[in-house]
Amino acid sequence: MLKGLFLNGEEKITNNTYPLYHPHTEEKIANITQGTQEDMKEAISAAHNNFAEMKALTSNQRANILFEAADRLLERQEEAAQIISKEASKPIKAARGEVNRTIQTLRFSGEEAKRLNGEYLSLDAAEGGEGRDAFTIHEPLGVIGAITPFNFPLNLTTHKVGPAVAAGNPVVIKPAEQTPLSSILLAEILTQSGLPKGAIAVIPGDGPALGEVMNQDERVKKISFTGSPEVGKLIKSKAGLKRVTLELGSNAAMYVDESCADQLNDIASKAAAGAFSYNGQVCLSTQRIYVHESLFEPFKQALAVKTKEIVFGDPAEESTVVSSLINKKSQQRVLDWIAEAKANGAEVLTGGKGKANGVLPTVLANVDRNEKISCNEVFGPVVLINKVKNASEALEQMNDSRYGLNAGIFSNNLSQAMNMAHQLEVGQVLINDVPTLRFDHMPYGGVKDSGYGREGVKYAIEEMTELKMISLNYKG
Ligand code: NAD
Repeated sequence: MLKGLFLNGEEKITNNTYPLYHPHTEEKIANITQGTQEDMKEAISAAHNNFAEMKALTSNQRANILFEAADRLLERQEEAAQIISKEASKPIKAARGEVNRTIQTLRFSGEEAKRLNGEYLSLDAAEGGEGRDAFTIHEPLGVIGAITPFNFPLNLTTHKVGPAVAAGNPVVIKPAEQTPLSSILLAEILTQSGLPKGAIAVIPGDGPALGEVMNQDERVKKISFTGSPEVGKLIKSKAGLKRVTLELGSNAAMYVDESCADQLNDIASKAAAGAFSYNGQVCLSTQRIYVHESLFEPFKQALAVKTKEIVFGDPAEESTVVSSLINKKSQQRVLDWIAEAKANGAEVLTGGKGKANGVLPTVLANVDRNEKISCNEVFGPVVLINKVKNASEALEQMNDSRYGLNAGIFSNNLSQAMNMAHQLEVGQVLINDVPTLRFDHMPYGGVKDSGYGREGVKYAIEEMTELKMISLNYKG
């Protein structure tokens, strides 16, 4: 299959292509037209030229485009899931889950398009302000640049495109090299649903080259980036006066306190799901688990049992939970980090070996906090379990990270859990849930190296609009 860029409402195929391989089967899926810097400029011009038309759409019209896109995606849900599964090596059940979430994200975006309300301001609160009424309105910003990662190629792209459209902005997408097909499908569906041609473009290709054009073009008013901290920091350093949102990496931690003795099996199941879903390649994957010393041994055994039940295999199989990583380089990195931790005394409870282009689900106990596999983002199917004396030691270890995205606390002691929640240095705390949980309408983003700004449809819209105040002096 030869697949082109999505530009000016249609596919553009050129001879300049790159091959896309299935990460697990290694079969060639497609030849993808490689976007050039000229294509990116053309996409930004088209988006900019469509801004007036986008701005002229009513909230109701923008909402209806998003609702129709949700309905069309629902009709094509299995096709979309197959695309995600093949290009990202995502187990098919997880790929279907991503499509369902995307449909919701589109619907939330449509709903929020209708709720873009301002507020009444009492100007007479200030001396000399009497005799005036004032209110605020949200105006669209202009062209939004969306740069997206490989791991949730449909839903994370929709988290940028849905709010952009809801607010009346055109959008240019630079998808991850490995997963362009999901974004192209989304752009096709939105255009078929009535989005003005040219108001959305997808330009696959080299990140630094295409990102540079986006960063330098002053018509792009905001860059919404999801990906690694290294690239995120680079983008922000070059963005000038553009707004920037950065959704970056993590090494999420959770704590199981001494009050959870009766729930260990249930918590171990949830923790295994949090650690191994989509091969551990989830930004908020459960990576570090701290357990109160009184429950450490039984929890460790329960987690090992649950992990051994997890099926590794072809992502097309219904039973597969863990499959190959996105590329061999990732596999080698994860295996090297496991070997290093093992050589320094970590105990491998299960897994620890490579299979196909992936890594078998792995549980490591007693890992030193300075190991690469502990202080970096593993982005593979590995979870670490360590013993702590009490909540304050758990808190200290959980916060000892350059990242701060999500954290989880399992506890029946509400005041202890709330106390920890207030002190955790993260964007989201989930009490009695693993950190690997995101609902698409909740505010979502990180602190420290995990990011800058917030997504979650309503919150993304706030960052994609300009607030304008209008006052009327009715006394003259
Ligand atoms: P990546 O940073 O390698 O790539 C992300 C995107 O940036 C790709 O489209 C890539 O082509 C582009 N890019 C690369 N260099 C660029 C440059 N110089 N200028 C502009 N764009 C450039 O990330 P990845 O490997 O695709 O994804 C994995 C990372 O994403 C992990 O760190 C993960 O935690 C993070 N992530 C975070 C969230 C979140 O919501 N916080 C969600 C998913 C993934």
